[in-house]
Amino acid sequence: MKIQSLSIVVPTKNKCVNACKFCVSRTHTNPYDDKISSVVKEWNEDIQCTDGIYYYENSIEYKDYYNRLQFARDNGCNVVVLTGTGEPIQNPKFLDFFSEINDTLTTPFKSIEMQTTGVMLDEESVAHLRAIGVTTISFSISNIFDNDKNLELIGCHNKLKFDLIETINLVKRYDFNLRLSLNLVNDYDNYTVQHVIDRCKELGADQVTFRKLYKSELNNEIDKWIEKNASVNFYNELVEYVKENGKFLGILPFGASSYNIDEMSVVIDDDCMSEDIKETYKYLVLRENCKVYTRWETKSSLVF
Ligand code: SF4
Repeated sequence: MKIQSLSIVVPTKNKCVNACKFCVSRTHTNPYDDKISSVVKEWNEDIQCTDGIYYYENSIEYKDYYNRLQFARDNGCNVVVLTGTGEPIQNPKFLDFFSEINDTLTTPFKSIEMQTTGVMLDEESVAHLRAIGVTTISFSISNIFDNDKNLELIGCHNKLKFDLIETINLVKRYDFNLRLSLNLVNDYDNYTVQHVIDRCKELGADQVTFRKLYKSELNNEIDKWIEKNASVNFYNELVEYVKENGKFLGILPFGASSYNIDEMSVVIDDDCMSEDIKETYKYLVLRENCKVYTRWETKSSLVF
């Protein structure tokens, strides 16, 4: 078995600081028990047992978690994606914990990506992410031209409002790999593909991922929003544009094809729920219950 990437759910107690209009996590409570947070607490308290071993190291949950990380490494997985049902930066202690546990694996993960809207990232937190080994910041962006519109679409709380371009510049200054993941809402239908590509280039992107928005079968308020607000025209133009102007680079760790356009890696991620999984898993998800799954949407995809 070959695993291309491991998505790690950073526990955020079921609550995200944002309220993205298209967020599927907002429509249900997280059904997975959080068993790792108590380990993180014990790790943070630094209590040693009488035999000199730290208290948390003796817990079954810790061993379960460690074994899943090691399992991914043993099966050829090189990339970790810090993500979840909230902003990973909401739980800095967990990020520290992950970094320390990673260092104890027989061969630690070297390629570590964090997915974020950019909220709560400041100089201190960005420097900290660099120090704990994060290599790529992947910004989820719903409007790359209009900051206020972007904040509105991600449901950013008034107290947490930020300037996305300033945050991107900060991340560039710390020399992270910069990925812009553009959620294809219909605002993009007002722009040409060339215009969007030029904007990404101007912002210094190393990689750009275009994410098509998909409805679930639930037909809930999020699905209705997506039906009304997902881009149609831009997406079709994009596919044509990439065919005409892109030079195929290869298949990325999460399974999508990458093309060179203007010295940026450009990816159209329209296949995040691929059925065509054989000997290779596009990704595995390590949940807060210390178990790994092959799918986000169902417990039935449990590996162990
Ligand atoms: S940042 Fe992610 S988890 Fe939070 S509301 Fe947006 S899509 Fe949902």
